[in-house]
Amino acid sequence: MPAGVLNARSAHAAGVQRLLRSYRGVPATSPIRLAKRTSNLFRTRAKTGATGLDASGLTGVISVDAAAQTADVAGMCTYDELVAETMRSGLVPLVVPQLKTITLGGAVTGLGIESTSFRNGLPHESVLELDILTGAGEVLTASSSENTELYRAFPNSYGTLGYAVRLRIELEPVKPFVALTHVRFHSLADLVAAMDGIVATGSLDGVAVDFLDGVVFSADESYLCAGRQTSAPGPVSDYTGQQVYYRSIRHERGVTTDRLTIHDYLWRWDTDWFWCSEAFGAQHPLFRRFWPARFRRSSFYATLMRIEQRFHLGDRIEKLHGKSPRERVVQDVEMPLDRCTEFLDWFLETVPIAPIWLCPLRLRADDRWPLYPMRPRQSYVNVGFWSTVPVGQVEGETNRLIERKVDDLHGHKSLYSDSYYSREEFDELYGGDVYRAAKKRYDPDSRLLDLYSKAVQRQ
Ligand SMILES: Cc1cc2nc3c(=O)[nH]c(=O)nc-3n(C[C@H](O)[C@H](O)[C@H](O)COP(=O)(O)OP(=O)(O)OC[C@H]3O[C@@H](n4cnc5c(N)ncnc54)[C@H](O)[C@@H]3O)c2cc1C
Repeated sequence: MPAGVLNARSAHAAGVQRLLRSYRGVPATSPIRLAKRTSNLFRTRAKTGATGLDASGLTGVISVDAAAQTADVAGMCTYDELVAETMRSGLVPLVVPQLKTITLGGAVTGLGIESTSFRNGLPHESVLELDILTGAGEVLTASSSENTELYRAFPNSYGTLGYAVRLRIELEPVKPFVALTHVRFHSLADLVAAMDGIVATGSLDGVAVDFLDGVVFSADESYLCAGRQTSAPGPVSDYTGQQVYYRSIRHERGVTTDRLTIHDYLWRWDTDWFWCSEAFGAQHPLFRRFWPARFRRSSFYATLMRIEQRFHLGDRIEKLHGKSPRERVVQDVEMPLDRCTEFLDWFLETVPIAPIWLCPLRLRADDRWPLYPMRPRQSYVNVGFWSTVPVGQVEGETNRLIERKVDDLHGHKSLYSDSYYSREEFDELYGGDVYRAAKKRYDPDSRLLDLYSKAVQRQ
């Protein structure tokens, strides 16, 4: 075994020991939480005296097996680090979430998605096995043949059954460039029909599609962005400088094309946090020129946003201008593809937020993942919208309206942000019985929070 791999394995083993020591150091009566530098969670959490587990030794890639196309990865390894390492072997994870600081453990327990999801499903579907520090303080290996109950219940459990310390994942080959085709639509029904066609055939006008997502600016202006991997050299665009990626896809009619390096394609949405960097002035040509390049990344905007939330700066400014405070509407929902147009029409009429991100998705196999029960062999569209609206009569009015609409149309809502479900509704939507059985078995003394407390009660 190469010395580098041996070193990485012993460093990881030491990291697990450190985690276990910190677990044992928490009094049995105290709740446990993860201490982690970055987060892509949007829910504001109640302040707690809970001790943070020391996960500092669980970063990085442990090994890549290029022949088997797999990698052993520490639970808190960011996708930024992970991709940099696997690309040395010409490989990437099957789904690479767009934000650099999302960790593999976070994407598996909290669900990630990206433009390969129409052919590769969700990140947890390419996890072959994982080691989990359970609430009971044991490190167990879970896979489709070992501790299966834990393996199936882990996705969408948000660290309430245990923490992933190592994951073995599948990888796939990748080429150095992505050729992009941006197709303009004047009707959402036409866009959704075209998306359905690409998902079904894996091609657009006879050309293979490896990546697919889309953006809605209004009912009359929406785009599909189809990408094809290629090794053909040639000029590429750069959206890490003065140009902004989402603006580059807009045009009057028909089709435009573009090319990016695979690196820049994978992180195309990170530089400006999709379009959300606009709220901080980062897209203004004058500011942008002086905005340090290292701060043009989602993690920096997320920090600014947390400061804003902490001091309610946005609401204070609104008040100064005689306006009412705003309700945060930051959500990703999965709609069955055949109900997507209906949802988008309703959304554009009801919720004053645009642009909207679209990403088609099909589970990769027929396996069931009870805490986020999507139907195998059914096409869905992830619909993402991240902004604020004027507050309504009741707390979370617009978020509640969205929850009801999503349920009416048989969609699902991710849990990384605010939720307002009753406990009964929540149980029905997120595998209540299976979850309770797994919780009893793997966290019998409730050392970790429970999913409802975390996702809805913001604990
Ligand atoms: C604005 C926004 C946009 C997003 N866009 C995307 C997107 O485009 N694509 C996408 O794929 N996802 C997206 N997400 C969702 C994101 O992937 C999930 O929130 C994911 O859980 C974040 O992972 P993280 O590593 O940052 O975890 P954190 O934010 O640190 O933690 C999330 C939760 O997971 C738990 N957790 C963290 N690490 C582990 C572990 N190793 N084992 C067990 N539990 C753990 C934490 O306790 C916490 O409850 C978005 C989220 C936001 C807020």
